[in-house]
Amino acid sequence: MPQRAPTVDPGRVPDSELEDRFGRRFAYLRLSITDVCNFRCEYCLPDGYQGKPTGFLNRDEIQRLVSAFAELGIRKLRITGGEPLVRKDALAILADAAATPGIEKLALTTNAFNLAAQAEALRDAGLSAVNISLDSLDRQGFERITGDKRHEKVLAGVDAAIAAGIPSVKINTVLLGGLNDQEIPDFMEYVRERPVAVRFIELMQTADNGDYFRRRHVSGQTVADRLQAAGWSPMQRGETDGPAVEYSHPDYAGRIGLIAPYAPGFCDGCNRLRVTARGGLRLCLFGNGTHDLRPLLQDEADKAALKRSICQTLVGKEVSHHLHEGDFGDTPHLASTGG
Ligand code: SAM
Ligand code: SF4
Repeated sequence: MPQRAPTVDPGRVPDSELEDRFGRRFAYLRLSITDVCNFRCEYCLPDGYQGKPTGFLNRDEIQRLVSAFAELGIRKLRITGGEPLVRKDALAILADAAATPGIEKLALTTNAFNLAAQAEALRDAGLSAVNISLDSLDRQGFERITGDKRHEKVLAGVDAAIAAGIPSVKINTVLLGGLNDQEIPDFMEYVRERPVAVRFIELMQTADNGDYFRRRHVSGQTVADRLQAAGWSPMQRGETDGPAVEYSHPDYAGRIGLIAPYAPGFCDGCNRLRVTARGGLRLCLFGNGTHDLRPLLQDEADKAALKRSICQTLVGKEVSHHLHEGDFGDTPHLASTGG
């Protein structure tokens, strides 16, 4: 299906530092702090982490990076992975980021394997939002999809994050045909009393998961249709919001959302950039290659040069991904780029 392009003037000179040729502004950075993960989600790392767990940006490099991006206008930072909480210094990295001038929202994406124990410390560190992956409310379903037995701990992590008062608690559920698509009503029930947003993410094809994608991909439209039929209404998006369309219902405390990267116009509202755990700036989740920022993150490096390098790289951002042409870029799995 062809993509609807944003209003494009390729000769246009950007008038703000983090703005691309198509007039899209970037106030949101997703930063991976490790590729390593302790789960084995079928669609992501079905054989577990197979890489070499070394060479990730250290705390100082991360802080220099965050500070430069904040000076360029990044207001929202998401720390992701792999599983970010496997890093022993994750809390310190988050606290540094929260204290960076310009960063107004600090978010974390986690599988929640040890969130319950850390929720209060994370709140105290300045975390404003947490997204928790939870692909099934059913214990066996969860174990089947993630290859992990810590379902109870993940559920406890959600409740601990709410109880700790982390201002935004969201759940990511990858929509999987025949595995959890029958659970849409259960998730509605789950948010009846809980003030959380459950967002169904359409399964995305990556270099490694082609067969799985063909077996399990279901269009997000099925969720939208069911929500609307049950009286849920779509809400407005804010400037630094992610790509989800969220629905609310007067009888439910929580919300249900949908992230549908295959839907027409998905890229028009793109407001985010990514940096990999080893310091590669990536312009699109489904793009090719990264621009290595690491040499400019060292002690002696010049911050102005780092900022220039980021801005110059942004000029290469394309108008849209090429998923509809069957081109999903060079991402082997989302653990490698920070989903
Ligand atoms: N380990 C953390 C977690 O699972 O929350 C953070 C990293 S994970 C790559 C970030 C998000 O990407 C998770 O919500 C995960 O379910 C989602 N994800 C991973 N692979 C995906 C795929 N192929 N399609 C759609 N979502 C995917
Ligand atoms: Fe790990 Fe997250 Fe990938 Fe699951 S989705 S294997 S928890 S990185």
